Amino acid sequence: MTFPNLTFDNQFHDQLPADTESEVYPRQVNAAAYSNVEPTKVSSPTLIAWSSDCADLLGLSDVKGEALADFLVGNILHPDSTPYAMNYGGHQFGHWAGQLGDGRAINLGEVNTDNGHFTLQLKGAGLTPYSRSADGLAVLRSSVREFLCSEAMYYLGIPTTRALSLCLTGEQVMRDMFYSGDNQLEPGAIVCRVSPSFMRFGSFQLPASRGDKALLKQLVDYCISRDFAHLISDNDINKDTYLAWFEEVCERTSTMIVHWLRVGFVHGVMNTDNMSIIGETIDYGPYGWIDNFDLHWTPNTTDAQGKRYRFGSQGEIAQWNLFQLANAIYPLIEESKPLENALNDFAKQFHQKWLEMMASKIGLDTLVEGDDSLLLSLEDTLQALSLDMTIFYRLLTQVDNTTAPFDASSAKDLVEPACYAPLNDDQCLSLVAWLNSYIERLNKSKLSPEQRITLMNATNPKYVLRNYLAQQAIDKATQGDFSEVNTLLTLLKKPYDEQPDFEHYASKRPDWALNKAGCSMLSCSS
Ligand code: AMP
Ligand code: MG
Ligand code: MG
Repeated sequence: MTFPNLTFDNQFHDQLPADTESEVYPRQVNAAAYSNVEPTKVSSPTLIAWSSDCADLLGLSDVKGEALADFLVGNILHPDSTPYAMNYGGHQFGHWAGQLGDGRAINLGEVNTDNGHFTLQLKGAGLTPYSRSADGLAVLRSSVREFLCSEAMYYLGIPTTRALSLCLTGEQVMRDMFYSGDNQLEPGAIVCRVSPSFMRFGSFQLPASRGDKALLKQLVDYCISRDFAHLISDNDINKDTYLAWFEEVCERTSTMIVHWLRVGFVHGVMNTDNMSIIGETIDYGPYGWIDNFDLHWTPNTTDAQGKRYRFGSQGEIAQWNLFQLANAIYPLIEESKPLENALNDFAKQFHQKWLEMMASKIGLDTLVEGDDSLLLSLEDTLQALSLDMTIFYRLLTQVDNTTAPFDASSAKDLVEPACYAPLNDDQCLSLVAWLNSYIERLNKSKLSPEQRITLMNATNPKYVLRNYLAQQAIDKATQGDFSEVNTLLTLLKKPYDEQPDFEHYASKRPDWALNKAGCSMLSCSS
């Protein structure tokens, strides 16, 4: 085949220490950032979805041909690619888990493009030294979810790893279905993920946990020179650079989480191995989208007891994860005060960004005194009601400063399309009170109604990857029909636009989808 026109660059290999053992079997890999390992060949790859915008990013717009699928599952390697799996550790559900690593993700390498450098990574490409007791594979179900959500997040304007392609491998993969307890064969699949960097907080935690300061320093220096080069002055990386780097990681992380809260995204498994060092949303596993607004909701049944990773806790958990990262890099800085300050600043910045984001959601371009309590009481009101978050914010554009004060009946009418349960008297009272204070606040706004609506509709998506929509696409794909995957990809390219032909994709979660496996209950098993 003619290879896609990619320029591979072996920075990672050249600059960081490799595992010296070449055999693939599960083991502890010490004093190395990665292991060289090739994707396992698969029997009959088929390309079933392709993101042409992600391809454009890589300069791959014109790539076609039968052999493309072979390239995208790792059956055929580019002559310049030297595939590898990365070594990292992590805290899982609050507990240090030791070495984890790319157990089923194999990087083809970094490519240089007109848009910068990107690593191409095949998720589900077979065993690596980090596979532990698992099989190194991914199934269609979870791969559809990863593919669609990566691209949906990108089009929502949220930092995320990208997905270039979704391929079936032709193999069947055994999975135990957590909700039925049965073992089941499922179609194997591989997503080609794309990001400037797949390094995680856990990439730095692992050498730190082993007291390997030399490797820790190599990794941080590499990360800074590759993805934070603007922090380097006079070719020198020193303690100040490390601190500035940590501050920027905090800053990027708070920005990312506030975006999640804006659109109703719940990551579901914010372990430190799933936190990208460049502040991208990474590892789409048991994530979910808020239907009825609920700060306590988590899609992850593995987390059902602790609810560590619920919607409203994501800022706090991000800070906890950053604290672990701070601990890991402490040996390079040897001063705790500046790290503590950065963590405290995270909390302040997070709150400020949250306020600004919430203000935009309700169509305010500036924050004035009293807005804190207006926005916090909106959150309380939504929490007490059972309203669809996405629909509610689009409905709110119907209110302006000329709207007559609300009473129970007009308030009910306004939110009716978003209601999952009839409002009781108390709920009605708090909604009416909030709406009326909102009208008062709009009187003080300098934005015209048109400007306000434009701001709101650019902040509040009309279409998100509702859990049941993803599940419907999965059900069809499992039957060999990939049309719904591709329909959703097209729809989610313009999440803020009215798309009359797709109106039904913006409606409330149907009753059948409540508490249904795949729709609102997911596990880490994928
Ligand atoms: P996750 O919960 O998906 O972030 O995965 C946690 C760890 O388990 C990572 O090191 C993964 O690479 C690994 N892992 C998850 N699923 C598999 C699998 N099917 N085979 C091998 N490793 C896996
Ligand atoms: Mg992971
Ligand atoms: Mg995962």
